[in-house]
Amino acid sequence: LEDRLIHSERLASIGRLAAGVAHEIGNPVTGIACLAQNLREEREDDQDIAEISSQIVEQTKRISRIVQSLMTFAHAGAHQRQLYPVSLAEAARDAIALLSLNRQGPDVHFVNLCDPAHLAEGDSQRLAQVLINLLSNARDASPPGGTIRVLSEAGEQSVFLCVEDEGSGISREIQDRLFEPFFTTKDPGKGTGLGLALVYSIVEEHYGRIDIDSPTDPASQRGTRFRISLPRYVDATPAEG
Ligand code: ADP
Repeated sequence: LEDRLIHSERLASIGRLAAGVAHEIGNPVTGIACLAQNLREEREDDQDIAEISSQIVEQTKRISRIVQSLMTFAHAGAHQRQLYPVSLAEAARDAIALLSLNRQGPDVHFVNLCDPAHLAEGDSQRLAQVLINLLSNARDASPPGGTIRVLSEAGEQSVFLCVEDEGSGISREIQDRLFEPFFTTKDPGKGTGLGLALVYSIVEEHYGRIDIDSPTDPASQRGTRFRISLPRYVDATPAEG
């Protein structure tokens, strides 16, 4: 419990810092990107200038992406929680649709096996964010043509949302650090290391838990399963008639 409290405290203070930094950095970076774009248009005929300004634009995009995730992350705690019934099947459908639009990473098959009867009590936008982060990590870890399954289960008071991939699994050392803000094993252009830190805070907001089932032996061909518990929504209005 103490570890979890320290972790929450750290997340909260990083969140506050992040909000300030992201706000201050966002505008000048957008300025630089516009200037580089102008320069490129002004000097279209000059190959070197075109190349350098494209690189500036690329790098500023990278900064903007980090700033964007910092903002999302920072707003995590500040956000007024709205608790409504959330259909896990619909949340999975929407997240899959969104990721299919953005064709980064290997080609994979997303399969939504969630039971439409399983409802969580939560904030649909925040839960969508959880799914998007888990699914895009699963895609990054997947072999080409791999299948990623989203499943739901229900207990008496909880519902469970599982994301399973056919990737190479996660080693013990990495499993210990997954939820740390800024921890990433991806190329600097790709990962910010904030995805799972955000997932962690959202699940915590919902009084849920996250379990990871992943082979720690890389030779095993089994992939990773993230399993999240959430409070189950139970319709309390008496049935008519
Ligand atoms: P990012 O995706 O930006 O790296 P995350 O916090 O979402 O940040 O993930 C942290 C790290 O956890 C990833 O860099 C990766 O090493 C590991 N990881 C997360 N999900 C998976 C998965 N499904 N399979 C293998 N590794 C994973």
